[in-house]
Formats: sequence, structure tokens, C-alpha cells
Amino acid sequence: MKNQLSDRINRLPVSQTLAMAAKARELKLQGKDIISLSLGEPDFNTPDFVKDAAIKAITNNYNSYTPVNGYIALREAICRKFERDNKLRYNINQIVVSTGAKQALANVAMVLLNPDDEVLLPAPYWVSYEAMINLAEGIPVPIATTIDNDFKITPQQLEAAITPKTKLIFFNSPNNPSGSVYSKEEYRALADVLVKYPNIYIISDEIYEHILFKGTNFSFARFKDMYNRTITVNGVSKSFAMTGWRIGYIGAPEWIAKACNKMQGQITSGANCIAQMATIAALDAPVSKIKFMVNEFKTRRDLVLDLLSKIKGFKLNEPEGAFYVFPNISYYFGKTIAGSKINNASDFSLLLLEKANVATVTGEAFGAPNCIRLSYATSQDLLVEAIKRISNLLNS
Ligand code: PMP
Ligand code: GLU
Repeated sequence: MKNQLSDRINRLPVSQTLAMAAKARELKLQGKDIISLSLGEPDFNTPDFVKDAAIKAITNNYNSYTPVNGYIALREAICRKFERDNKLRYNINQIVVSTGAKQALANVAMVLLNPDDEVLLPAPYWVSYEAMINLAEGIPVPIATTIDNDFKITPQQLEAAITPKTKLIFFNSPNNPSGSVYSKEEYRALADVLVKYPNIYIISDEIYEHILFKGTNFSFARFKDMYNRTITVNGVSKSFAMTGWRIGYIGAPEWIAKACNKMQGQITSGANCIAQMATIAALDAPVSKIKFMVNEFKTRRDLVLDLLSKIKGFKLNEPEGAFYVFPNISYYFGKTIAGSKINNASDFSLLLLEKANVATVTGEAFGAPNCIRLSYATSQDLLVEAIKRISNLLNS
């Protein structure tokens, strides 16, 4: 049958992270012993105090449509959170609650971009940024980084990428997939470039803010000269092990928040009411309640770095946050392993899946074609076993 779908959807690539996770699930169902290091999803249970708040909301008949931008009580809790954790002052009209940070980000792209507006994307970048920009008819402009610079862009690179058409930059620290974290000084150096270009807006995706192994998280909007141009994005998926609850949010200039509210008023009518009530409990809790998860992630990071660095051809940076490692494996390009010729990172990732039963994600999906991503949001035993399998395969 002729393809009747729109050009828009035909052009849209599938999310490689979700596709790899689906593939791993499918192979497991077929009885294969797959270890999935593909998805960025905490393997902890949602904390009991959050679940209790959700149960209470159900019992108390929270079942109606909520305000499109989220319950006032939740937006107030988000304002408290921003002030407590990020020293950012927002009022409730600057907050929009969405169906995950993913929708929050997509809203912003849709409300700010006109066709052919350019959007700067420090690479590696999270898979969905590029697709969102394309859907909004903007033009993604990747800025390549190197592992030797900890996958961070420099102010010089930023300035060189700016043109009169630049409208937006997607900034993400702690970074998915590299785990890199920008220091306050590095933020300031980038801000010093951006102040010269007042028409550029900044998306600051801080969803991994608490999954941080040293130092403190900084926010673009902390700078007075950036506040009115920054959309701060966050959510509870990662910090509170609530990926399936689908709650994310922004703090933004009021006119942008208003536009996002209008956008989702036509698309989702707002986020799930029970999950919104649970999120109030999550955000009002002291950060110490999730410290045990962060500690465990740090132990796993150290374990994974130690084991992977012993494998020939794995070049690693030291991630300071999030729960991914992003080794450069280009050493293997052009080589034949277990009968398969490796031409690129996708071949390598496929090799690991097919011959070592370990699911990873190709760096090509993140705009970094020499790397692969491994998520260490899984148990230490499974991580050890997965890396043993990889090592055995590559040594064979
Ligand atoms: N931003 C980044 C950098 C992410 O890794 C993710 C992954 N889920 C998201 C946003 C979206 O998170 P969610 O939609 O689950 O809130
Ligand atoms: N953000 C996670 C990841 O990068 C979840 C999957 C997704 O939403 O893309 O794996």
C-alpha cells in the first residue's frame, strides 16, 4: 500500500533509546538472556511517601481535569523547589507542568521556533532534542565536542556557531549521555558570549541535577542577565525514580510559559492529576531522601569505569553526574570481530547485542558517532556480568 503518512512523520526518526529498549525487551521475551544497559531509567522503586500521596489523591477523588498548566498547589511546590535547590525565583504563572520533561521541551521548541530558525545543540545531546527541533521546523546546528575536553563546548565554539538565525540553544548539565557537568565558571563563560546576542534563548535541561557526584549543580537562570532568556526544564523521572508517572515542568519567562500552556491546552489538556499530587510530595521532601540512590549510582559509576577502562579500545571520560558512560570505541572501526565487520558505532552496538547479549545505544543517536552509551541504572551484579560479556567478546 502507498505510504499515506504525512511527510512530517515520515521524516521523524524513532527514538533510538526507546527503540533499543523495546528491542531488548522483545529479545528477552523470546527467551534470550539480554542485559539491557540501553534505557536511562532508575531501577529503584518510587519512594513510599510519593506512592502514598498518589493513593491519597485517588481516595480523595482527584479525578477531574486539572488546570492545563498544573494544579496551583503543585506549581507552588515547584516554586519552592526552584528556590530551595536552585536559588531561582519563579511565580506560579511562570511554571508549566507537562507530561514529562520530554513534553515540556517539545512545547518550548514548538512555541519559540519558526521555520529555519537555527538551534544550537552541543553534541553529544539527548536523542530527542534533534527530533523536536525538526518537528518544530527549526534547523539543528550541532556543536561537536571531544572526549579530551570532557565533551564540553568552549565559549569560542559557541560564538563560532552563532549566526543571525540562531534562536535557541539546548543546554543539558549533568549531560545525557556524557555525564559531563559544567562548573559555575564554565556557565559564566558561555553566558558572556550569549549576552552579546540578546535574541537567543536558552533551554537549560536540569533533569539530572540531583544525580551529581561532586560539586553543586548550577543553573543558567541564576545569572541576572540570563534569567529573562532561560527556560529551566526539570522533572521527577530521574530524581525520584518516577519515569512512568510522566511529570516534568518548566520555569520560564511568563510569556513563554503562557504559550506552552496554550500549546498543551490543545494537545494534552495537561498532565495526569494523580501524578501531579504525588509530585507535590516528592518535591516537598528534603533532598536527603534520595541520597541513597545517588550514592548507589556513584558506586556503580566507579565500578563501571574501573571495569571498562580495562577493556582495550575503550576511551572514557569521568562522568560527574547522570547515570551513563559514553566510551569512545572508534578503535574498533574497520576491524572484524566474531565475523562482523565494524564500520561505525551502530555496528558496534549491534555486535554487543547480538554476540554478547548486552543492549547499549549507538552514539550516532546522540550526535557523537565514535561512541556508545551504556546506562548504569541497573544492579552491580548485572553491570559486572554485562561488562564481562563485552570483554570476553572483544578478547575472543
Ligand atoms: N531530558 C533528558 C536529558 C533526558 O535524559 C530525559 C530522559 N527521560 C528527558 C529530558 C525526559 O524525561 P521525562 O520525559 O521522563 O521527564
Ligand atoms: N531519557 C532516557 C534515555 O535517554 C529515557 C528514554 C527516552 O525518553 O529517550 O534513555
